[in-house]
Amino acid sequence: MYAEVLVDLPARQVDRVFHYLVPLHLKDQVTVGSRVQVPFRRQKLTGYVLGFSAPPELDRVKEISAVLEPGPVFDDRQLALARWLAAHYLCPTVSALQTVIGPRLAGAPRRVQGLWPAAQAPGPPDFSRAPAQEKAWRTALARPGLTRRELAAAAGVSAGTVEALIAKNILSVREYIKNRSPFPEENREEHPPPPPLTPQQDRAVREIRAALQAGEHRIFLLYGVTGSGKTEVYCQSAARALALGRGAIVLVPEIALTPQMIAAFQSRFGRRVAVLHSRLSDGERYGEWMRIAEGEAGVVLGARSALFAPLADPGLIIIDEEHEPSYKQEENPRYHARTVALHVARERGAAVVLGSATPALESFFAAGRGEYRLLRMDERIESRPLPRVQVVDLRAELRRGNRGFFSRPLLLAVRERLARREQVILFLNRRGFSTIVVCRECGLVVKCPHCDVSLTYHANGRLLCHYCNHTAPAPAVCPDCGGKQIGYFGAGTQKIEQEVKRLFPRARVLRLDSDTAARKGSHREILGAFRQGGADILIGTQMIAKGLDIPSVTLVGVVNADVSLHMPDFRAGERTFQLLTQVAGRAGRGDLGGEAIIQTYQPEHYAVCAARDHDYEGFYRQEIEYRRSLDYPPFSRLARLLVTGPRAAEVEGAINILYSKLKEFAGRGEEEIRFLGPAPAPLSRIKDYYRWHLVLKSPREDLLRAAAAAGLKEADHFTSRRLRVIIDIEPQHLI
Ligand code: ADP
Ligand code: ZN
Repeated sequence: MYAEVLVDLPARQVDRVFHYLVPLHLKDQVTVGSRVQVPFRRQKLTGYVLGFSAPPELDRVKEISAVLEPGPVFDDRQLALARWLAAHYLCPTVSALQTVIGPRLAGAPRRVQGLWPAAQAPGPPDFSRAPAQEKAWRTALARPGLTRRELAAAAGVSAGTVEALIAKNILSVREYIKNRSPFPEENREEHPPPPPLTPQQDRAVREIRAALQAGEHRIFLLYGVTGSGKTEVYCQSAARALALGRGAIVLVPEIALTPQMIAAFQSRFGRRVAVLHSRLSDGERYGEWMRIAEGEAGVVLGARSALFAPLADPGLIIIDEEHEPSYKQEENPRYHARTVALHVARERGAAVVLGSATPALESFFAAGRGEYRLLRMDERIESRPLPRVQVVDLRAELRRGNRGFFSRPLLLAVRERLARREQVILFLNRRGFSTIVVCRECGLVVKCPHCDVSLTYHANGRLLCHYCNHTAPAPAVCPDCGGKQIGYFGAGTQKIEQEVKRLFPRARVLRLDSDTAARKGSHREILGAFRQGGADILIGTQMIAKGLDIPSVTLVGVVNADVSLHMPDFRAGERTFQLLTQVAGRAGRGDLGGEAIIQTYQPEHYAVCAARDHDYEGFYRQEIEYRRSLDYPPFSRLARLLVTGPRAAEVEGAINILYSKLKEFAGRGEEEIRFLGPAPAPLSRIKDYYRWHLVLKSPREDLLRAAAAAGLKEADHFTSRRLRVIIDIEPQHLI
């Protein structure tokens, strides 16, 4: 018997099956879907059995060395999805397959022996002369699955008491894979009744339920302003999917940033929700995965990879904040969760709900053309007003002699909130202390030796590269001219924190950015402390922009809105509008009302004005015209070819070869492809690798893919460890 094996070597050149002989002693264990070990070019590699057939040359066939896991690790449907991913995103099938299969437990799974009350006659057993046994039995009833030792400790009884119950068959022993619950038990078992829906929520839920009832693949765009109660719509729709015996997948951009969403689902669904948290240990992730596979959890909440959770029958896929760039995976397979969700839902007859206060241009465009059904929720819960947004022109502040980071309106507003004991959020999308370190004598900007970016000065006195983590002590003199006047410019969150403490010495201040959140759990701690009133002011990066629902926050200050406007990317305007809307939406979620103040040097920019006016559709109208005039998505599809390598000339040479190949391809009567570049990428060097890119534009994605595939094939001639060619279909940024 010969098996067709896909080897775990993610390279285009070996992206096909290889034949291996199945040795007799493994005959019963090797099936389609087996994970095996095979010899391959003097190495032992992991491989996946895709099928069985006779090899073309019988004499050169090697043997499978071992079966790595009992039973198949994927089924036909998963293989089909992997093949689709590989074809759609032009990535090696094995990378796609591993993504689809999901977490495998390294080493042996941790099996434990748990105790369950045995099935028996109705009514409790007779414990009249054994109160300790009764205590243990009641504890086991309330908390099944504990080990012998855990049960004895929880019930406060001896080990002998527990053994006696096992001997009498009152408790039975079952072996299972221990799932360490990543979240506190207290969230899990209460099921508060859902609140009565608002009329807008009700309409949305009804439409989604109708689609579920019909078992139809329908796509909804839930366009609901911040605070309109989208989470409740998700919960009640998911509940209907469960009631119909199907499952629901709920995707969030970054699970660590959405503790309130997790709490909402856990309190509604208890153990029927599995949470796939990015910071789970391997064992925890595997445990949650198994709970889904075994049918215990029918609702899956997680980041983009939760899309591949082994739900038997997903009837509903929800994507919250569907516009977020983090739905794009930035490594192979470079998939977009929205695109894959639509594909999966079409295959499975599932409904899709895309939710956002600021839908992606592409999504709103699709809704406008009737491809998605638009569900609007333009009112906040309890008719709370959206926060009043004031834009402050920092140029005018400068003319009035204010050189500080805070305009007078923002200072006054903060002071007022502190006096009223209300809470303030200050947002700046840059961490560190000073983002630019300059010699004031020769003008040298201190850059990372490995990347084409300036180093950020941090409060610990060191310079740090935010791309490669290179650090160096802050220079006492200019490394170039020896000048002693070193200037620090461009405030980051640490500097803002220092300023706030200086200006408001009595205020209690917390800061949340990737520096303070580096330790596991500290993100939750900081947010928890702020929510409970442990601080007056929370300073943070985009980590605080999403999902926070804190009623006593009545002021949000955007210290500098221009940070994201200056990104060299055609989506800079859209990203800025989304970020400002999201951040401003953190204010005024309680009865106290709220206000947002946006500081900027470009108060007339339409992204800023539209955010001020809560005018998504106004923004959309302007932005869509800009996209139309430059033929950017949604009017065209994009693919990006990126070549990286340690030698600038090689990289440039390689991309020029690819470019001429692609032009040749496009010239064969395929005029519908247009090119931007080749040119150095805006980030022209990262970690000592030079970067050049070429952007392809076409109204037809199939054509783009064919062209890109031709380019990749050409690239086989020169790609090596040192020269990489990356192809990105549907890129979310062009940095
Ligand atoms: P969004 O995700 O649209 O920004 P949320 O889902 O966070 O809004 O809801 C905002 C707040 O309104 C939350 O505190 C939520 O518990 C509350 N809420 C949602 N629906 C209702 C309802 N029908 N009645 C009362 N409160 C609700
Ligand atoms: Zn660097």
